Amino acid sequence: MSIGATWAGTHTFGAEGLVEAATIDEVREAVASTAGPIRALGTRHSFNDLADTTGTLVTVTGIDPDPVLDEAARTVTVGAGTRYGILAGWLEGRGWALHNMGSLPHISVGGAVATGTHGSGVTNGCLSDAVAALAYVDASGGLRTARRGDPGFEGLVVGLGAYGIVVRLTLDIQPSYRVRQDVYRDLPWGVLLDDLPAVMGAGYSVSAFTMWAEDTVQQVWRKTRIGVGDAPEASWLGARFERAEEAGLVGVDPSNLTVKGGLEGPWLERLPHFRLDSTPSNGDEIQTEYFVALADGADALRSVRALADDIAPHLLITELRTVAADELWLSGAYERDTLAIHFTWRNQPEAVAGLTPRIEAALEPFGARPHWGKVHTMTADAVAAVTPRLADARAQFEALDPAGRFANAHLRRLGVR
Ligand SMILES: Cc1cc2nc3c(=O)[nH]c(=O)nc-3n(C[C@H](O)[C@H](O)[C@H](O)COP(=O)(O)OP(=O)(O)OC[C@H]3O[C@@H](n4cnc5c(N)ncnc54)[C@H](O)[C@@H]3O)c2cc1C
Repeated sequence: MSIGATWAGTHTFGAEGLVEAATIDEVREAVASTAGPIRALGTRHSFNDLADTTGTLVTVTGIDPDPVLDEAARTVTVGAGTRYGILAGWLEGRGWALHNMGSLPHISVGGAVATGTHGSGVTNGCLSDAVAALAYVDASGGLRTARRGDPGFEGLVVGLGAYGIVVRLTLDIQPSYRVRQDVYRDLPWGVLLDDLPAVMGAGYSVSAFTMWAEDTVQQVWRKTRIGVGDAPEASWLGARFERAEEAGLVGVDPSNLTVKGGLEGPWLERLPHFRLDSTPSNGDEIQTEYFVALADGADALRSVRALADDIAPHLLITELRTVAADELWLSGAYERDTLAIHFTWRNQPEAVAGLTPRIEAALEPFGARPHWGKVHTMTADAVAAVTPRLADARAQFEALDPAGRFANAHLRRLGVR
């Protein structure tokens, strides 16, 4: 049976079979009735072989989301296979919101949480940081729950599918809010590097887009919570305000992007970059991303920028974002306010394979951590050196799954299992 490939076609799954569970009991049955390797598959938006197994893949995306709101606790509990955009629409309809969104609302909540997926904002933790509890099917098919405050909980949230199949997630929510998305063009590089935390902190969520080999940073998207900031300024730090309602991004059809141009709207229609009701692209791309301390961010950018002329011909766009520090053992922002340095590459695997180790070498002095769901060439030793709680996470995974049913080649290669 052919399982197909990741969304971008960057990895073809080698699993023997795929179980598309319609209920939690079917997930339990899939685990209990087999003995071999088994792993969770989300919406396939990772770029590497992280989700794969030699045995059975189980997806929970077909299970009814069945969201349950707890207004007193300010949480929502929802099926892990639910796409963020679906959950966001449901919450907004009831006057509630998430603290942040990734660029794409099509990604499953369970898959995003499992890899520490993030949006931007110096005060915003990654999406996984909102997890207050999770229910998962363990290695013998039992249903278990873990809650914030339980010992080892911080090792389970960004769990890489390494100990079970998460079926329900409880997320922190807050009252709905409105956001305005302002685009500024041509921010001088010097301004960005002189005070990176100030530029990246100049809004609720700030993203900077660059091709590296240019004198100015092409675009800065400032997403401001209404009531927090005033009307957009015509010029900001030497960058000019983009008046067009839609600002294009390299290689992206502007009609796929969320509304900008200073027009306020609900959080879920401004915080993601892409609209839920459109197809973002055909997946003809490769993504890589690294996390460094925001305090080291300017030096890290200078270091990568030395490779600008080699990077630019193969790049669609780089996006710079921030992530607030958290306590999740395998989060890219573990105990570190973070600058996320992201590359969307042209679909040129050989060029990307050549450049990636050079970028990793440029970022090595800054203790750069890789995004688990994206392409990288870091070794187990290199990953261990920048992941302080890796050994704790591995010990917990091994205790929960001593037979290694949820282990796979990717996790073994990186020393996670
Ligand atoms: C166009 C695009 C835009 C993106 N934008 C962002 C972004 O803005 N920020 C960012 O940080 N990342 C981004 N990513 C990366 C993406 O968020 C992560 O790769 C994420 O893990 C994908 O989720 P998924 O549901 O597709 O999971 P998959 O890729 O299917 O699986 C990823 C991992 O999660 C595990 N997993 C999935 N579901 C479960 C479950 N129910 N229980 C346990 N484990 C599970 C899998 O076993 C695997 O280890 C983007 C990717 C694409 C393609």
